[in-house]
Amino acid sequence: MFAEILTIGDELLSGNTVDSNSSFIAQKLTERGYWVRRKTTVGDNIEDIAEVIEEILERRPEVLIISGGLGPTHDDVTVMAVAKALGKKLILSEEALKRIERFYIELYEKGLIDDPSLNEARKKMAYIPEGAEILRNAVGAAPGVYLVERGVRIFILPGMPREMKAMLENEVLPRLGEKKFIQKKLLAEITDESKLAPLLIETLKRFNVRIHSSPKGFGRYIGIILFGENEEVIEKAKRFMEKKGIRFEEGW
Ligand code: ATP
Ligand code: MG
Repeated sequence: MFAEILTIGDELLSGNTVDSNSSFIAQKLTERGYWVRRKTTVGDNIEDIAEVIEEILERRPEVLIISGGLGPTHDDVTVMAVAKALGKKLILSEEALKRIERFYIELYEKGLIDDPSLNEARKKMAYIPEGAEILRNAVGAAPGVYLVERGVRIFILPGMPREMKAMLENEVLPRLGEKKFIQKKLLAEITDESKLAPLLIETLKRFNVRIHSSPKGFGRYIGIILFGENEEVIEKAKRFMEKKGIRFEEGW
């Protein structure tokens, strides 16, 4: 099962915002057994976004998760770009409109905004591509979007990390099935990754696990992440490496 992630925003490209959303999404997809093969970042430009989406669809991932650019301002063009890439019309979702209306009335009642009316900028967030479903936003105004195109399940989420996380947990992950993988982080007391390499290959051959390794704690440790379907297979792989002389500390 292969997945791609697309994050959108000029501030990600200028380096002003660290793209933590794609890491969070990647972790959750990996836990569910998806192999995240690419992450792409593009600015708030409708042509660029549409072009990248067309390229991603050519590769036919099972899942594409997009984050950013769902808000009310002129630079929030993600949904328009998706519609353009797929050759679909944008239609007003009555359900989305109702949710947006309710959201601003609540803010107004709490005294956070002066005017709860549905102005054009707010109404803009209720347009979704034809045939798409909306995803509930538990903590913000802009609903997310879900649609399937050429077998690719596309989820469009907001850029604000708090909103993105809530929507991913509540609306996206339940559609992607149970957790399939768990991971364990270990520190191997060995300083030379090249000495560890043959042992990792042997472990991969013997056990149904995936392994990532990277140097940690300058000249002292190699950080290892073991991915497996359950605790048991991870423990077996760990014990195998210990028998071959590797000492581990838990976590990092
Ligand atoms: P809004 O309604 O707030 O405009 P939006 O969906 O349009 O939501 P963006 O405008 O793309 O989201 O981003 C809102 C804020 O969320 C950005 O200013 C940035 O701080 C943060 N953000 C956006 N994308 C990411 C990301 N990939 N990783 C971390 N933070 C992000
Ligand atoms: Mg925005």
